[in-house]
Amino acid sequence: MSRRSAPLSRRHLLALAGAASLLPASARAAAGKPGLLATTGQVAELLRAVAGDTAEISSLMGEGIDPHSYKLTRSDTVAMMRADAVFPSGLFLEGKMTETLDKLAAGGKPVHPAASALPASLLLHPEGAEGHPDPHVWMDVSLWKRALEGVRDKLSTLYPAHADTYRSRTAIAAAEYDRLHAYARDVLATVPAERRVLVTAHDAFSYLGRAYGLTVVGIQGISTESEAGLQRIESVVTMLASRKIPAVFVESSVSDRNVQALVQGAAAKGHKVAIGGQLYSDAMGAAGTYEGTYIGMIDHNVTLMAQALGGSPPAGGFQGRLALAQPGR
Ligand code: ZN
Repeated sequence: MSRRSAPLSRRHLLALAGAASLLPASARAAAGKPGLLATTGQVAELLRAVAGDTAEISSLMGEGIDPHSYKLTRSDTVAMMRADAVFPSGLFLEGKMTETLDKLAAGGKPVHPAASALPASLLLHPEGAEGHPDPHVWMDVSLWKRALEGVRDKLSTLYPAHADTYRSRTAIAAAEYDRLHAYARDVLATVPAERRVLVTAHDAFSYLGRAYGLTVVGIQGISTESEAGLQRIESVVTMLASRKIPAVFVESSVSDRNVQALVQGAAAKGHKVAIGGQLYSDAMGAAGTYEGTYIGMIDHNVTLMAQALGGSPPAGGFQGRLALAQPGR
């Protein structure tokens, strides 16, 4: 697929740059900073890590937004058309945007799904979602590092003048992702083996479980669009009681109704289960907070899991920047 249906030479674009107000996208790219648009906050983090202030970076979805059911607003569509390049997360995470993204790409707009950098052999294929790999790949930091490198390669192709900057910035970010990956593995290894079970409201954590040695039990389908059945709840309650799992988790972008049903069901069997706290699944925390960054989101998740399941994480998490509620409260 070509980037532009009618390619303009760089010199031609520079000549047009004086009329930037008439030609917002391509002329802006030639005249100054490219405008890059991500769908989710996690993808915007990749763009910031690679491009820094060489680009104008924005994202469509903020804190607490569920990408599976997110419908584009009129202004989102305008933002996508104005952007020089669009970066979805991919693997149908943005289920309701697929058509628009396909149209943009068919019209010549560079559209790069972050997950497209991952080899098919590393993707998980959940039962009951035929043909659709699990899209929650950012939960395994080693996979998201590959997505980071894919963004570097794509931006280097689109804007070769910045390729050196992209390369050096990506190397720094990749080294930090390596450290975070090792931290996640080590901190979850402090949880007693029989309790390394993660129960959450939707199946966003399968990659995290595979990478860091947790068995993941979701009580809703792969998408928040489907409802959990009573039977499913009942079988999870039985497992919680028999393995003495001390905590289950809620998520920032999903209703906690089913998780509450588990806690009550376990209590009826005489097993006390705590709500281990709120995990970030599909959306990061509030902008401007540590949990509103990719590193902070993962740090929060793995450190909170380790603490609630009976492990011994450092109080401040990966970088001493976390402030989790202390256990026993
Ligand atoms: Zn999800």
